[in-house]
Amino acid sequence: MARECWFCGSEATHPWHDRVIGFHQGVDHALTPWIVVIRTTWRRETVLVPRCARCHGGHGIEQALMALSVAAVIAYAASGHLDKLLGILPSTPGGKVLAAIWAVVACLPTLVWIAVRQAWLPWERLAPRCLRYARHHPEVLQLREEGWRFRPGPFPYWQNPKDAYAHPPSNRHRRLAGAITALLGFASFVMTIVLYLRGGSELAGGFLLAAGGLFFLSSKIDRGT
Ligand SMILES: [Zn+2]
Repeated sequence: MARECWFCGSEATHPWHDRVIGFHQGVDHALTPWIVVIRTTWRRETVLVPRCARCHGGHGIEQALMALSVAAVIAYAASGHLDKLLGILPSTPGGKVLAAIWAVVACLPTLVWIAVRQAWLPWERLAPRCLRYARHHPEVLQLREEGWRFRPGPFPYWQNPKDAYAHPPSNRHRRLAGAITALLGFASFVMTIVLYLRGGSELAGGFLLAAGGLFFLSSKIDRGT
């Protein structure tokens, strides 16, 4: 039987593209009888929402844009332009205009992210429905009604267990891309330390953000969420 993509209705060819949503319930903290440690137990449930390759890719773009939006706003605030705009730091009128222009630039990723989520952009690689639409899936609604909570476990057990989802078909290019991204992330991290020691703390902040973004990306490529 062909599985239908929950987000767009076309055929979901490989379970690897499925959206995996973990749930937990009945969290219990207990002391172990012999050695005193707190043992936390809970029940777990996983829903696989069928998804096609196109929506999988589109949701990847959506998540990357969300990360970029946050990074852009933090970078803007860290660069000192925000202080100039608000008048906390002394600035010339020209400096204020520049700070305002940079503010618009810093907000651009957020605007693009909202547009992608709302499916306003006519780009065929984007998903017609955003990632959150998975929460309207009947199986998800049912579990929610039965009192299950989102996430596969209480904090910090927020990772879906490895056996819960299908693994990406072995792909050398993908592994290579993951390794290169991780390497670039590591290089950015080293640059951060070098720049920080030399006193260029603003640039160092930028590289730290880049390192974080690259590590995030490489983990996505490796696991294929
Ligand atoms: Zn789809």
